[in-house]
Amino acid sequence: MTQRDGNVLVLNAGSSSLKYQIVDPATGEHLVKGLIERIGHDNATITHEYDGEKTHREVTIADHAVALEQMTEVMSETGLALADAGVVAVGHRVVHGGRNFSDPVLVDERVLAEIKRLGTLAPLHNPANATGIEAAQRILPDHAHVAVFDTGFFATLPPAAYTYAIDAALAKEHALRRYGFHGTSHEYVSARVPELLGADPASLKQIVCHLGNGASMSAIDGGRAVETSMGVTPLEGLVMGTRGGDIDPGAVLHLNRVAGLGVDEIDTLLNRGSGILGMAGATDFRDLMERVEAGDETATLAFDVYVHRLVKYIGAYTSVLGGVDAVTFTAGVGENNAAVRAAVCERLAWLGVELGEAANEVRSDNPRVVSTPASKVAVCVVPTNEELAIAQHTVAVIDSAP
Ligand code: ADP
Repeated sequence: MTQRDGNVLVLNAGSSSLKYQIVDPATGEHLVKGLIERIGHDNATITHEYDGEKTHREVTIADHAVALEQMTEVMSETGLALADAGVVAVGHRVVHGGRNFSDPVLVDERVLAEIKRLGTLAPLHNPANATGIEAAQRILPDHAHVAVFDTGFFATLPPAAYTYAIDAALAKEHALRRYGFHGTSHEYVSARVPELLGADPASLKQIVCHLGNGASMSAIDGGRAVETSMGVTPLEGLVMGTRGGDIDPGAVLHLNRVAGLGVDEIDTLLNRGSGILGMAGATDFRDLMERVEAGDETATLAFDVYVHRLVKYIGAYTSVLGGVDAVTFTAGVGENNAAVRAAVCERLAWLGVELGEAANEVRSDNPRVVSTPASKVAVCVVPTNEELAIAQHTVAVIDSAP
């Protein structure tokens, strides 16, 4: 069996969670998938799916190493042991690749040390990603481990797009620049659009809106990312579940000097207490929509702010690209929420955008065009699949290794 024939265990380790999937990179099918939550707390849970069956357990999980032991245990008990799953390599989602990593790499000691060092730029993510890698190396010591970076796809941003207009020496010393995140999703989704439209990828000007709990937008010209909304951290840009995106830096100073909040409190406020949650007390977009439909004014304002930001960015990115051929929605809200797509597209009528009302209401797991044939810009919905993209990158790395 060549390595290419095998499956990939894809891991996404967060600070208190671990998502896993075993994916066949050739077919895109996943054999198992699971989510372990509240790692480090007494009431941790593991939700495992195999062969159409869902298993849910409450357990005590001290750390990521124990989480992976639990994953192996639940796999054995539900019919497919890890040793029998044909796993040839492990693909790890790593949030920040800094300036040194753009392409996926085989993890060795030097790479792991650098991922940890980049924790200064992504304190909520990289330390957890590194912990996940170390734990996985312990349970699968003879397998190749590959790191796939969320920032990688944005390595092609031109200097004018990634440079912050601040003191140049200070920016250089502290590696402050726009990096962008959700790159694996933007790359995967933007590669599906030319296939969907039967268009030449080299000449397509695209805008991709990744709208999940975190949200980001990218402008892609002929397959290369030229602009993206997240910055040195995932705080910048669009309105998100618990992050507000763009804010006047002066407001942050004001929160400190006038409102008396310390740096850690402001950090928590911006990362966990802003966005839809901060404006309307709802993190889940479904809850927000129920309140919007019931006429709740606070929820309606939050929805309007969310849509306004999207419209503003699409206008800006159209200008950056010098035109746009396709606007694509993906991730939880982008794939499932027809009201957001309708509200955004209505305000893009000046661009020649014409949404097909019935097509927009269709729920499907398949990529689809939701604009009318007469629309001057194609509007698409493409379900993202970061796990498959990570699995494909992982086999590409091990196949090219000497
Ligand atoms: P992340 O991966 O960033 O945690 P997701 O891409 O899963 O986030 O998106 C989560 C968001 O998507 C939530 O706000 C949720 O309300 C919304 N969402 C998920 N499924 C649906 C659905 N079926 N209908 C409407 N909104 C949905």
